[in-house]
Amino acid sequence: MKKLEPSASRRGFLKGLLSAGVAGTIGAMPGGLLVPRKAKAAEFDPNAYQIFRNACPRNCYDTCSIKTYVKDGVVQFVEGAPESTYTKGALCVKGYTYPRRLYSPDRIKYPMIQDKRGSGNWRRISWEEAMDIISDKILDIKKRDGSLLGLGLTKYSGNFGITNYGVEGMMSSLGYTTRFVGTPCWPAGIDAQNYDLGDMWCNDPEDMVKAKYIIVWGANPAWCSMHSVKYLYEARKNGAKIVVIDPVLTQTAAKADEFWQIKTGTDGALALGMARHLLDLDLVDKEFVYAHAVGFDEFAAYLRENITVDWAAETCGIPADAIRVPLRKNLPRQSLPPSG
Ligand code: SF4
Repeated sequence: MKKLEPSASRRGFLKGLLSAGVAGTIGAMPGGLLVPRKAKAAEFDPNAYQIFRNACPRNCYDTCSIKTYVKDGVVQFVEGAPESTYTKGALCVKGYTYPRRLYSPDRIKYPMIQDKRGSGNWRRISWEEAMDIISDKILDIKKRDGSLLGLGLTKYSGNFGITNYGVEGMMSSLGYTTRFVGTPCWPAGIDAQNYDLGDMWCNDPEDMVKAKYIIVWGANPAWCSMHSVKYLYEARKNGAKIVVIDPVLTQTAAKADEFWQIKTGTDGALALGMARHLLDLDLVDKEFVYAHAVGFDEFAAYLRENITVDWAAETCGIPADAIRVPLRKNLPRQSLPPSG
């Protein structure tokens, strides 16, 4: 098979040009094609900007510390604050594009009303009109129900800036309103950690570099927590093995040492199978669980009566031997349970 050499073909191209006597002409072209040019970047003068400190409010684990550069009242660009050891001064693409979002012509900056629900016919209205419509609705609910409990406040994830929390104050100033107790996410994670580990303290995520075996379970940090990926790779450089458990071949899974493509919705079975195997090998740190966890004996009895590794393997589609491999006697026991 003929191997194409890019440099040889470039040389051939130039030779052809020379023989045709056109190289001088091209070099003299306004673009300076083929003539090396010394580009010099403009000097960066931080004193030319007002610099503001911000935190990304997107409720991503990384909580990036941001520096915003403003000139003449206009945000020019943002960068990650280099003092943050976790992010090391980098933002993800969403973070870097904040100025574009801020000045996007599509950004909603004024009250809009849809002429007929679902019609897509939105038009701008004045703030006064918007306030009137909303307050009339609230008063209407109060008149109809005799209280404001018909008014539901439900929100959770997303933007966690001050505006988000200001809503509670506004709703509370109206009276009692219907609210969710807890959320499906954070309190469930806190309860799980409290029951299992006695507290909800987690390791510093930077500790991941010290791990010897990393299981990324149902997460895709390459897209959703990109700063942690460098710690994953650093750990691998230090000898760690990275296993990704996911029904989807994600970008993180593609880079893992092992990818366990589990059947959708069966990772509970996998966790139970692993727990049963730990029990069988007597690898449970009993001193720890009796001091910190709730209901260990009941859980162990449940596992012995109902769960086998083979059942877990069949349910989740991961071979039983693979499930047993990470749970060996010689593995370090420290773990870093991510929250959320
Ligand atoms: S990684 Fe991106 S979305 Fe997450 S906190 Fe940083 S800038 Fe915000």
